[in-house]
Amino acid sequence: MENNCIFCKIVNGEIPCAKIYEDDDVLAFLDISQTTAGHTLVISKNHYDSFLSTPKEIMHKVMNVAQTIGQSQITNLHAKGVNILANCYPAAGQTVMHFHVHVIPRYENNDGLVIDFKENKLLGELSLPSIADSIKKSL
Ligand code: AMP
Ligand code: ZN
Repeated sequence: MENNCIFCKIVNGEIPCAKIYEDDDVLAFLDISQTTAGHTLVISKNHYDSFLSTPKEIMHKVMNVAQTIGQSQITNLHAKGVNILANCYPAAGQTVMHFHVHVIPRYENNDGLVIDFKENKLLGELSLPSIADSIKKSL
């Protein structure tokens, strides 16, 4: 439990949530923003500040639940697709510093959410082998 962490307060029942799933390590509930209908957050019950700093065993349990919820959104909400994503640290848009995965059902072509991976304008100036070598150093 981290002081002033809104998701720790949800885990402890101090703040209500629309709960979807719970076990010893994982909790899933509806995101209050409902980017699309059914937008769900899957979180670790213990506090870790992001996907990147969560022990792999716990991260795997959270991702396992995220997959099942995505399958249910297709079957039971009749979503046509699902985005599963984790924002890691503020530069990537993370606003709640407690590990969570978004499971966002998608409906038809124009459901109001735009996730757009545009081609980087710097692509011509980047050395892909050099970038690949840098990332490989820690693998
Ligand atoms: P992120 O920007 O990846 O850190 O996502 C944090 C998410 O938490 C946002 O989509 C918020 O809408 C959501 N959120 C914040 N407070 C609550 C809350 N009390 N209940 C449910 N979702 C929340
Ligand atoms: Zn927390």
